[in-house]
Amino acid sequence: MNRKQISGPDSPVSALPGVGPKKVEAFEKLGVTTLRELVTLFPRRYEDRSRFTPIYLAVPGDTVCIRAMVAQEPRLNRIRRGMELVKLRAVDDTGAIDVTFFNQSYRKDQLKKGESYIFYGKVGVMGQRKTLTNPICEPESRAGTPGSITGRIMPVYPLSAGLTQRVMLDAMRTALDACSGVLPDALPEAVVTKYGLAQAGFAYENIHFPADMGALELARRRLIFEELFVLACAMQRMRSGREKTGGRKLKPYPIKEFYQALPFTPTGAQQRAIQDAVRDLCSGAPMNRLIQGDVGSGKTLVAAGCIWYAWKNGCQSAFMAPTEILAEQHEKTLISLLEPLGIRVGRLTGSMTVKQKREVYTHLADGSIDVAVGTHALIQEAVQFHDLALVITDEQHRFGVKQRSALTEKGDHPHTLVMSATPIPRTLALMIYGDLDMSIIDELPPGRHPVETYVVDERYRARLTAFMDKLIEEGRQVFVVCPMVEENDEVPGDLKSAEEHAVNVQRLLPHRKVACIHGKMKAKDKEAIMAAFAAGETDILVATTVIEVGVDVPNAALMIVENAERFGLSQLHQLRGRIGRGAFQSYCILVSDSDTEEAKARLKVMHDTTDGFKIAEADLRARGPGDFFGSRQHGLPEMHVADLMTDMNVLEEARDAAQDLLQSDPKLELPQHEKLRKQCDRLFEVNAGQFN
Ligand code: ADP
Ligand code: MG
Repeated sequence: MNRKQISGPDSPVSALPGVGPKKVEAFEKLGVTTLRELVTLFPRRYEDRSRFTPIYLAVPGDTVCIRAMVAQEPRLNRIRRGMELVKLRAVDDTGAIDVTFFNQSYRKDQLKKGESYIFYGKVGVMGQRKTLTNPICEPESRAGTPGSITGRIMPVYPLSAGLTQRVMLDAMRTALDACSGVLPDALPEAVVTKYGLAQAGFAYENIHFPADMGALELARRRLIFEELFVLACAMQRMRSGREKTGGRKLKPYPIKEFYQALPFTPTGAQQRAIQDAVRDLCSGAPMNRLIQGDVGSGKTLVAAGCIWYAWKNGCQSAFMAPTEILAEQHEKTLISLLEPLGIRVGRLTGSMTVKQKREVYTHLADGSIDVAVGTHALIQEAVQFHDLALVITDEQHRFGVKQRSALTEKGDHPHTLVMSATPIPRTLALMIYGDLDMSIIDELPPGRHPVETYVVDERYRARLTAFMDKLIEEGRQVFVVCPMVEENDEVPGDLKSAEEHAVNVQRLLPHRKVACIHGKMKAKDKEAIMAAFAAGETDILVATTVIEVGVDVPNAALMIVENAERFGLSQLHQLRGRIGRGAFQSYCILVSDSDTEEAKARLKVMHDTTDGFKIAEADLRARGPGDFFGSRQHGLPEMHVADLMTDMNVLEEARDAAQDLLQSDPKLELPQHEKLRKQCDRLFEVNAGQFN
């Protein structure tokens, strides 16, 4: 037989003993051509064959490892042509189990009466007796020794046709030995020491062949850390590129002056977010910060604080919102918070007359308006600023990159602040907005009562109507939300369209004032209806998701969502954020007649939690990140060991470590960082074009 040559990590898998052309092809299907690539093919899961279960405690249905003595000579039966069966009985101190092997006649001579073996398999029952069928089996004396398949934690690898776990195990063993000392290792020694990480050699050995669970954990932590560290370094290197394009350096002013003029005390989280932004504004580099805060957390105040800061510096700000109603609401808020301080607020929205717009254009250009609040109308050609230093966009995921940059281009490298209520799990946000800084408002203003949420079906209709009536009697107002029905859509079954449903509700409650609002209406009509509801002139507002974003009516204490199964969880969360903004106990009733388990489980999440981050995670699990963000593709690099949803703590550490390292070596030029630099470059090559 030809002895094959293995020279090191770059040897092809064909150099492995027993790996012929067929297997080479099978390895290629798994993306593996060299030994180096092979050792980074990590197990999918592990089977713990290191702990033994007494037969007495072996529960049918469980997969267990049993250490037992063969109690009688194994018997060979031929049940049909070509079907052979070896049966034996094995015992330990606690009980007996029947073991059967199909078509493994060699077992008859291999297994000896009176000797002890390790059996690994799924426990079954036959009458009163416990059974094992075709278990993995090894003499007890071999278990846990090198090359054994019991008495240890076994890796389970992804396979492709032509490969078996056995082949993988042998290949991996040989590859690990061949790569010893030259394993992929991008972590600088200082980082390994500081964060108490395992060495690369230990990590690769134990991710494949764990000595025990503790060693496996250490190995995993090291490899996850490394993966996230490389990602963080790559992202931060990109950011330092961005920061070099000089920005307006604002002069510091005591922010207390702004706080003192407010009708309430900002929450700790609001203050932290404002501090973060102020630091950026005074840093000399353009701010690029995301304010991420659950609905009702008070993001507008953070915006107002920044606008105040820019104004103190004699600069203008622009504040762009995705809808007319929202822009108007922001205008009101800013007027109430900022005008008493002398800041002049102007609005620009599509529904204004040409004459009104022209007037605003003039005041923006000559600097007599300090802050312009508006919709897309802000990015029109005709809009020119005197000195725009700060650009804020609300609900940023609704704006395209182009629209945002169109606004930015109206100033000279203005600072940008984006506010989002889409509760993106932090880990994911760090990946997606890797080159954005983030402040999280994780605290609601005091005195809020969490909204009580219930999921009901049509049988509750009468009670629901009575409940609406009761709350209105108490002076509250009600939102009823119907799914959006596109013009050309066939309305399936009894799916409620807002207009029809409003007529129904009015018929059921003739003594209450019912209004309807939906996306197809003219902006002016929408505004009038919204304004009337905000002023308390109507009791019930039947709406589509046009109210999803931002609208603030503290007196609304009940929201009924019809056909709730048609909405995404994050969308329901946004909707629910419209209520519970006042001093009253609020209720959200999700009406759904859908009886699929999946829909029920989904809606139950809304009942179980009001935490937007948990809801986002549930949504993400159900739909995956692609759907979660709609059509926008963020193209996160694929992680091999790290789980972006659960390895958050490690990610934060890896980020800190990356920050420290890049401070001392921004371009990763030092010789001890060469491997790291190559890894970072590789990440961008592999994911080219995905980081916009
Ligand atoms: P978001 O945009 O984050 O959903 P808003 O900025 O609309 O939230 O604020 C929600 C409500 O909370 C508003 O009515 C606002 O006046 C109020 N609010 C904001 N901050 C505070 C605070 N620190 N204390 C009390 N009320 C606050
Ligand atoms: Mg808002």
